[in-house]
Amino acid sequence: METSVLQPPLILSTWHFGRIANRSGWAVLSQGGNALDAAEAGCRAVEEDPSVTSVGLGGYPDAAGEVTLDALIMAAPHRCGAVACLRDYLPAISIARRVMEKTPHVLLAGPGAEAFAAAEGFPRRSLLTREAREAWERWKREHKSGSGDKLAHDNSPGQEAHDTIGVLAIDGAGRIAGGCSTSGLAFKLPGRVGDSPLVGHGLYVDPDVGGAVGTGHGELIMRVCGTFLIVEEMRRGASPADAIKVALERLNCQCRPDPRQQAAFIALRCDGAWSAGCLRKGFQVAVRSATVDILTEPDVVLMEGD
Ligand code: ASP
Repeated sequence: METSVLQPPLILSTWHFGRIANRSGWAVLSQGGNALDAAEAGCRAVEEDPSVTSVGLGGYPDAAGEVTLDALIMAAPHRCGAVACLRDYLPAISIARRVMEKTPHVLLAGPGAEAFAAAEGFPRRSLLTREAREAWERWKREHKSGSGDKLAHDNSPGQEAHDTIGVLAIDGAGRIAGGCSTSGLAFKLPGRVGDSPLVGHGLYVDPDVGGAVGTGHGELIMRVCGTFLIVEEMRRGASPADAIKVALERLNCQCRPDPRQQAAFIALRCDGAWSAGCLRKGFQVAVRSATVDILTEPDVVLMEGD
């Protein structure tokens, strides 16, 4: 497959709101800043935008009405940090970065992650907006079973009810980093954690090769170590597009996605070669460098007819 290559610095982000991430990330890169700061700034801008209903403030809550966030930041296997099932604190990506920089651990979850955020000086705040609460109340009404008020946890929200901000950046010095952040599937079972905060599932970066980020149904991506698989394929010489295709084919064969489920990836090699792909149409990638600033369709759509 043909390979698109851009001269670093450059930044790639998932979905249409990737343009918001790229704007903030590019402000860092274009001033000579580093890739890790750009990835953090990109994710943070989307987390703080209440109009994005699948990330940070304004994210749709779980079935119990709680907004819980998952985030991961990564520059290398020895430099990564994550939070999972984090309530009441923003930006999850910056708290993940503190986990990386200030603890010997990789991932803090739930109340422990919240206590860590508080100890690090992040202010506690409510993340549930009125719009998200109303969507949750509508969902609850629609999912009452005939026999009582038991919620049907079919987790089958529409395409708009999930989506992770995933960012990959290379700075002017050739350093690569990535970040991802999400409130996960809307109305998920309390306690559910997706692919995003898990190294090698929602995000993987190896500074000798490149990086990849996943988005879509985490239950698909985390069954095949999606982003680790892509980076390993690139290590063996595959182009970013071919590496993504391998991961999508694996996921499609082995996880039996139902027709409502989406999985998508972006991948970036350290030389500036990049690509994006998805199981079915609907995904877009935002790309920014000194010469481009675009929101574009992926190279690979595994099920073209869908
Ligand atoms: N992958 C995320 C999750 O499953 C959601 C998404 O990217 O759509 O939590």
